[in-house]
Amino acid sequence: MTVDYIIVGLGLAGIAFAEELKKHDKTFIVFEDQSQSSSLVAGGMYNPVILKRFTPVWNAKEQLEVALPFYASLENDFKKSYDQAIPIYRTFKSIEEQNNWFIACDKPALEAYMHPEIVEIETDKIVAPYKSGRLSNTGRIKVRDLVSDYRDNLDKEGLLVDETFVHQLIITWENFLEYKDIKAGKVVFCEGNGLIKNPFFNKLPLFGTKGELLTIHAPELKMDCIIKSAIFIMPLGDDLYKVGATFDRFDKTNEPTEEGRMELETKLKSVLTCAYSIVDHEAGIRPTTGDRRPLLGVHKDNDRIAVLNGMGMRGVMIAPLMAKKLYQFLEEGVELDKEISITRFKQKN
Ligand SMILES: Cc1cc2nc3c(=O)[nH]c(=O)nc-3n(C[C@H](O)[C@H](O)[C@H](O)COP(=O)(O)OP(=O)(O)OC[C@H]3O[C@@H](n4cnc5c(N)ncnc54)[C@H](O)[C@@H]3O)c2cc1C
Repeated sequence: MTVDYIIVGLGLAGIAFAEELKKHDKTFIVFEDQSQSSSLVAGGMYNPVILKRFTPVWNAKEQLEVALPFYASLENDFKKSYDQAIPIYRTFKSIEEQNNWFIACDKPALEAYMHPEIVEIETDKIVAPYKSGRLSNTGRIKVRDLVSDYRDNLDKEGLLVDETFVHQLIITWENFLEYKDIKAGKVVFCEGNGLIKNPFFNKLPLFGTKGELLTIHAPELKMDCIIKSAIFIMPLGDDLYKVGATFDRFDKTNEPTEEGRMELETKLKSVLTCAYSIVDHEAGIRPTTGDRRPLLGVHKDNDRIAVLNGMGMRGVMIAPLMAKKLYQFLEEGVELDKEISITRFKQKN
């Protein structure tokens, strides 16, 4: 088999790069071994405001301008709805936070999203003595459904190899790469935290931050918005809600833990006043980097070997734009901005 590209990894980054290739009539095959679960468990929220400090997410406008049409186009292809536009209510902890909210609402980058008023949450089942601020033009992508549909579709088209890609088996020739019986122009590694096993790029500063989430059933809650309080609570429909997430820089396993569940439940009980039962508990490693910027580029000794990683805590918004930038770099010679290029680090691989 001869293809333009091998893609390794079918999370949000791999899907976004595959879509770029399709748009430009490039051929490809995807390797996916289900060793990482970040995209599968992700809450899927997109929101251009950092809710801790009321500051704009880096490059949010440009990211959303590419991301929203990207998901709309996939909805059109699969005749499914993935983008659930939904407001976010940020509960306040104090009068000071209320004041900070008003100050932030005046910032040009934030005014399209943050409403300059203090409002009650739509439900009386959430503790919010200082009320809340409302964000709109925000939402949630049903990432698990999207990944699953994308995977099934590639499988049907014979473009998915359900196995671990073994980096050491790549043979490089002058004009192409060889991997087993495949000849490819280039390989793009979209491995999430699996990058730590990749001998071409494992010296890059990808730290990985584990996150755990609960899915709860809370029939009395009746809430149609996302709440950000001590914790996020996101409606999934059918009285189900995702609750999360934890942040752990040390545990690099994808398994949910008892400590994670306890932390989430303690926070949940501090904000939720109605009964609930836990129906699921999941975990994944966010591919986070030291400087909170993505990792794009090619190996220093072989420009046929590329990386698309470091999507961090906001893969939903950032992955489509980064895939586009990597494609333009690889195929059209457009330089990568220094802040996203792996050349900003002294690569030791
Ligand atoms: C608890 C939690 C909550 C989150 N919530 C949000 C949120 O609300 N909004 C948001 O935008 N982001 C969120 N994120 C972050 C988001 O999930 C990530 O930014 C994004 O999913 C990363 O996508 P990726 O494709 O780079 O990596 P991954 O999703 O990890 O995909 C990498 C893929 O590569 C495969 N792979 C790796 N190595 C190999 C190999 N050698 N051979 C074959 N296959 C391989 C893995 O199996 C995996 O499928 C959350 C993450 C977590 C963990």
